[in-house]
Order: sequence, then structure tokens, then C-alpha cells
Amino acid sequence: MIDRCGRNIDYLRISVTDRCNLRCIYCMPEEGVQHVSRSLILQEEEILRICRVMAALGIRKIKLTGGEPLVRSGMPKLVEKLKNMTGIEKVTLTTNGVLLKEQMKDLAGPGWTD
Ligand code: SF4
Repeated sequence: MIDRCGRNIDYLRISVTDRCNLRCIYCMPEEGVQHVSRSLILQEEEILRICRVMAALGIRKIKLTGGEPLVRSGMPKLVEKLKNMTGIEKVTLTTNGVLLKEQMKDLAGPGWTD
């Protein structure tokens, strides 16, 4: 996908949640933040549909981010589906690492590369 400045855009970053299990002061202050209503968070099928359309337009790399993406349930399954998507060459994930140990085995399953 070529933007108006002639740059090739092949990278898409998707926030899968605005929630996090940490409270870094510059991001989630003690007094809290107003979270987006669950109904406004992209559902898995919506994420997959967006990625299919973007892959058809030339996106090759997808980064899943948050908040903390690993607090969202079903992440290993979503990652696997994205990795198996036609046109997508790489799927990565930002994480604060807190839940990585318990989810690593599932994330490292079929379709996952770092
Ligand atoms: S999203 Fe990142 S910066 Fe924000 S509270 Fe969580 S770990 Fe900290």
C-alpha cells in the first residue's frame, strides 16, 4: 500500500485492548483512566476482517498491542489465525511480560514466530 508521500506501508498496528495489569504513572495513573466500553473494543472477527482487507492492500506485518494484549482472552488463537492469513508474513506482540510465562507455551504454538 503506497501512501500519499509515496511510502510503502506494509505494517499495521492494532490495539486489542485498552486494559493493562500494570499502572505505569504516565499511562495508567493511580486515579484510574476511563476504559472504553467493551462493546467498542474490536471483536476477534472484526480484527480478522480488518487484517484480511489490509493484507489484500499490501500489509505484510501485524503488531498486536494494547494496553497489555495478553490480558485479553484468546490471544494465542487470534495470533494463530493472523499468522495463517494469506499475505501476512509476520505477527508480533507488545507485552509488559507479566503474563508471558503462563501464556508462552500457547503463544509459541503453531503459527507463532518472534
Ligand atoms: S500499557 Fe504499558 S505503559 Fe501502560 S500501564 Fe501497561 S505496561 Fe505500563
